[in-house]
Amino acid sequence: MNIHRCHCAFIPPHVQENLARAGVEGAAVSAQVSRIPRKNRANRVKDAEEFMSLAPVGTSSREVYDSQNEWRQRVKMAREEGDSTTDDKDANNAYDYAGMVRDYYKEVLKRNSIDNANMNLILNVHYGENFNNAFWDGDEMTFGDGDGRKFVSLSRSLDVVGHELAHGVTQWEANLIYEGQCGALNEHFSDVFGSAITQYAEGQTAETADWLIGDEIMGPELRGEALRSMKDPGSAYNNRIMGKDPQPAHMRDYYTGSADNHGVHINSGILNKAFYLAAMEVGTDMAALIWYAALQKLWPTANFNDAVLIISESARLLAIDGKAPADSPQKIRAAFKEVGLPT
Ligand SMILES: [Zn+2]
Repeated sequence: MNIHRCHCAFIPPHVQENLARAGVEGAAVSAQVSRIPRKNRANRVKDAEEFMSLAPVGTSSREVYDSQNEWRQRVKMAREEGDSTTDDKDANNAYDYAGMVRDYYKEVLKRNSIDNANMNLILNVHYGENFNNAFWDGDEMTFGDGDGRKFVSLSRSLDVVGHELAHGVTQWEANLIYEGQCGALNEHFSDVFGSAITQYAEGQTAETADWLIGDEIMGPELRGEALRSMKDPGSAYNNRIMGKDPQPAHMRDYYTGSADNHGVHINSGILNKAFYLAAMEVGTDMAALIWYAALQKLWPTANFNDAVLIISESARLLAIDGKAPADSPQKIRAAFKEVGLPT
């Protein structure tokens, strides 16, 4: 089996392109994949077996590194598991939020860290200069400081940290290819867990949560905007700098263009809306549990219809086991139907 190491950046390419067009300094740089390091370690991972054998034995410990504004990872240790707080706010946020993500997986989903084998959580803050992005590159997390005007440090948001680390969980489970419908599913699962973790940590419910992704990282010139809305896809932003949120909320508005790996951050809106509707019916943690069970059964090339089938089936199996309400399969099918799925 080939491991598809998703190189998943938080700010999507279509937003970066709009920023560059609006003359935002550094946006073009942030959009360039070449600025994001491809792993060039001698032991580049080739397949799952090799990947597992290379993974260090973990203790689910956090390791936060300071890139010291260089375009490199693991430059200087800023805070390790058990260390007291430092005077670096971003390192502390990355440390705290990674802990909340780890706790959520453990307490709610009974999962031991990202790989379910206690992998350590490696996080890099202050990556590059004015870097308006954050990314998961297959085995660690990296955050830019933002330019301070459009975006602030990307480590300041629990849903960003939750979103990016969820790409790691997906990589170890369904391993969804980052392209087209399976890529939109990959993005969707990250928004699901990023949002569910935030609601859990902040004591919110489906009714009280804002369902916004990335609202805390918007800088003074974009305040009040967000990157995505799971409740109302397409409404997260509309301004001269970023353009308009292109996410559809229904299959009738499905994006068929080639941008953004054929719409991985765009068509995920349709699935996000279905999750929101399901969470309103069965509760966010229950919906996340059902989605998580499905993620463990999905496969790299799964499409939207496959996901609807597997998620509904997961709800049915959990209901039989008494772990989900008896009517959750019907409620989940109804949520998908509202967004035009299955097709
Ligand atoms: Zn993502």
